[in-house]
Amino acid sequence: MDLEYLASVGILGYQSGLWPSPCESQPSAAGAENEVDIAEQDELFSSGEVRIPSALNNVFFQIDFSLASVAPPSFAACVLALNRHGLPLSKELSLDIDDMDISAIAEVLSVFGQLQQLQRHCFLAATGLPPMFRHVPPAASLCRIFAMAQVRRCKVHFQHSSSEEFVCSYFDAMCEDLQVSARDFEGLYTLTEVLPSVYSVHTDSRLVLGSTFLRFQEYYECPNPEIRHHAFEFNQFKTWYVQKNRGGFDYYLQWPGFNIPSWVLDDARAGKLGSPLRPQEDAFLRAVPADAKYVIGSCEKDLQTLQHELAHGLYGTNENYREAVAQSLAKLPPRRWEASRRVLLDLGYVDDKVILEDEMQAYMIEGQCLYEEDEIECPTTGRVRDEIYQTFNAFAGKAVLVALSAHRS
Ligand SMILES: [Zn+2]
Repeated sequence: MDLEYLASVGILGYQSGLWPSPCESQPSAAGAENEVDIAEQDELFSSGEVRIPSALNNVFFQIDFSLASVAPPSFAACVLALNRHGLPLSKELSLDIDDMDISAIAEVLSVFGQLQQLQRHCFLAATGLPPMFRHVPPAASLCRIFAMAQVRRCKVHFQHSSSEEFVCSYFDAMCEDLQVSARDFEGLYTLTEVLPSVYSVHTDSRLVLGSTFLRFQEYYECPNPEIRHHAFEFNQFKTWYVQKNRGGFDYYLQWPGFNIPSWVLDDARAGKLGSPLRPQEDAFLRAVPADAKYVIGSCEKDLQTLQHELAHGLYGTNENYREAVAQSLAKLPPRRWEASRRVLLDLGYVDDKVILEDEMQAYMIEGQCLYEEDEIECPTTGRVRDEIYQTFNAFAGKAVLVALSAHRS
């Protein structure tokens, strides 16, 4: 998994035994379909305080537990994602978890226990849950299970190329199965004007953020010439992405921030990105004010991502900033410019001088000089970075504070 992401949403870094208490169910979630009381389930095993049922069901998952060995006790779980009819969502969306001791299986029960009170309409958000489970709760639970298995060294078997791909596929499959609409996504985005006509879009789930921005971002700067500046279907992009990425389709959990100039939005409104728009794309387009010249998106409360995206917003809208940055970047030794270019191409950016220089300055605002592996640090590059950072601070120091406070509210 993307450990940095998991840590940032509170999924990693937990201490065993310090689980949040079971969700205070919100009034609307009362009387959930298929509500199951663990105590009423057949008991598979009990030891002290821990009582392990043979199965756990909620509207999103069916989990069957089995005892693999008695001394010492070792358990296995089969997790099956369910569709809106309570049937298996797809053959690929199931997990087998082996080698769980009592505390590991207690964590599995606690994680999936968070979902027991929910109804299907809480798929995207459930305000009554602890913060780490509030946003796309069933997907957040899956992330937590993968993290738990990694920390406790349990074996997890699944058919996808990575746990990230499993979670992204689950999210897309459920959105389709539940027929999640643009209206369902409305209200998940907070827009703040952080610089003149530059809007920061904040949403709490990386899945919502990534799936919302994907088509706009890739239309703007996909390295694939058949996609960049062309109408394309989501599945067309997915096929291309999977061909070059060993982790499979993990896009939503791969990128923490996004940046798009307004001409991309104009093209989208004119139907040039291809149709139909996905519900989240539709909801996003409607949410962006007509005067927006640049839109950035992020979800974590981390300053680096925000500053990186704000640097794009400033670069895309302020000629004076762009000129000052160009003067600073011109001081880079040519071999350093080339090395930075190679690093960016490796990260998946398109080989376009304007976009590469935009990224160079944005990474420098994050504090990064884009060194290649084994490359010796270059003092001139450090000075260029400091100079660009000072320029950024003079132009956008206040905007960072505005954007940060919007994220915290
Ligand atoms: Zn960037």
